[in-house]
Amino acid sequence: MKVLVASAWPYVNAVPHLGNLVGSHLSADVFARYARLRYGKENVVFVSGSDEHGTPIEVEAIRRKTSPRELTDQAHDYDVKLFDGWELSFDNYSRTESPVHKRFVSDFLMGLRDYLEVKEEEIPYCEVDRIYLPDRFVKGTCPYCGFEDARGDQCDNCGRLLSPELLKDPRCSICSSKPVWKRTVHWFFNLERLEEDLKSWLERAKFPKNVEAVAMSWVTEGLRPRSLTRDNSWGIPAPFPGAEGKTIYVWFEALLGYLSATVEFFERKGKKEEWLNFWKGQDVRSYYFMGKDNIPFHAVILPAMLLASKKGYSLPYMIAASEYLLYEGQKFSKSRKVGIWIDEALEIMDVEYWRYLLIRLRPEERDMNFAWKEAIRIINTELNNDLGNYINRVLSMIKRSFNSVVPQISNPSQNDLNFRAFMEEVVVEVSKKYDDAKLKGALESTLQLAREGNQYLNRASPWDAIAKGRMEEAGTVLTIAVNSIRTLGILLYPVMPTHMNYLYSMLNLGKVEDDVWDSAGKLTIKPGHKIGEVRTLFKKLPDDFEKEVEEKLKDARRKIEAVRPPLLR
Ligand SMILES: [Zn+2]
Ligand SMILES: [Zn+2]
Repeated sequence: MKVLVASAWPYVNAVPHLGNLVGSHLSADVFARYARLRYGKENVVFVSGSDEHGTPIEVEAIRRKTSPRELTDQAHDYDVKLFDGWELSFDNYSRTESPVHKRFVSDFLMGLRDYLEVKEEEIPYCEVDRIYLPDRFVKGTCPYCGFEDARGDQCDNCGRLLSPELLKDPRCSICSSKPVWKRTVHWFFNLERLEEDLKSWLERAKFPKNVEAVAMSWVTEGLRPRSLTRDNSWGIPAPFPGAEGKTIYVWFEALLGYLSATVEFFERKGKKEEWLNFWKGQDVRSYYFMGKDNIPFHAVILPAMLLASKKGYSLPYMIAASEYLLYEGQKFSKSRKVGIWIDEALEIMDVEYWRYLLIRLRPEERDMNFAWKEAIRIINTELNNDLGNYINRVLSMIKRSFNSVVPQISNPSQNDLNFRAFMEEVVVEVSKKYDDAKLKGALESTLQLAREGNQYLNRASPWDAIAKGRMEEAGTVLTIAVNSIRTLGILLYPVMPTHMNYLYSMLNLGKVEDDVWDSAGKLTIKPGHKIGEVRTLFKKLPDDFEKEVEEKLKDARRKIEAVRPPLLR
């Protein structure tokens, strides 16, 4: 089996905030790390990249008297470093300016010719700014829900896909004047001809409810042709004869980035043809991670393009779209300084505490709220108490009473056998949740093992047995328990890779990356194995952390503001 892990390409003109990150890159990374352990490194490719074309950046470059490419070079480099800091293990983090991407997009779109039509169109044009206004640069009232601040491409309130002429009271989003409509020619992708194929595919697919609902409502409301080309200059030139001076609409080309980044990854490895193993055949599972506003593009437009290419490319196997993350009960807002952006976050706390928190609070089925009070509680009770204490109790007893050597198992009690069985069950359950892209659920089930481990120790009280000289009884408990700590190391690795490798060094076991997921529930640490040095894995956050967090955040903002490249300030 081949697993393609794809996270939505962020538009490179803004630093992602915590909610953006957990929706796409972080969730995708956690899943990719799981998949590598479970299905083998060589069978997993994890791709994404910077979406850098389009009017917003073109306008920004004009305003700053520089070139769009200079702005996106800086922003892309900044993001790449930042994602390293977040331990995101992309196999290829590409960009839409990559020559491989540009070539791929041109070839791919030429192959869609049967589904293209040229239409004369009236496009909103702002006479004040002297620019054709792309869909999202026109604002107005949504015809479906009455939301007054709907964009011409999509309504953020009801989620429906729009086009500018559907908006009531349209206005230019740069200067608020009323646009005029000018004639121009554009190339359209004939989505409605794929409606039946899409519908039957969606009916067969097992997507989460939020994805299914949005995708089905699109298809049943009827698909309209969508314009593939734009009249701006910052983008990939439209390859169609007669389309000189036009570029490809960013959404269409960014979606093709999943393919081109796979191509690029294998070209760099000198194995040019191997990319097809991840895009064709029955044995491919592709997982896409994104925020919910990207659902239509991944559940309708991308599969439509793949079908229209008639190349037999695999359609999405799983589309995991997160709901919104709120910050202290409010929507993230850069202008109102509500929320934390991912470069600021790294100044405040250990990256893996963040990773744990964000997956714990992942808005999987409903909106979730990030609140510091709760975040501190989670770190102090779950990481420090449930996990940290359990690990420390077991390893310390082996060190103290068994000279760091894992003892024999003899005559296991019912309590021992029950916990053994529970270890195996947890691994099965966590695997299933990962396969369904239920990362929050997987983490909760994993935590259950640590909690149950603490209970197991309390019931067995090996310290009593040791005090009374019943070393065989204590040894049996501790050997099962130390194996369950290895189980935790494997199951938690996708979320906290550095900490779990540190845990593995305490167990004297090498790297988690080299271990095998399917063995996680087994007793592979054998009697006679010598464990490593016992150290502290997690720390409580200090009592004054909550009180001081606003101050820390202000300091972080000041520091970050000075190092962000111009486009991202
Ligand atoms: Zn609406
Ligand atoms: Zn204007």
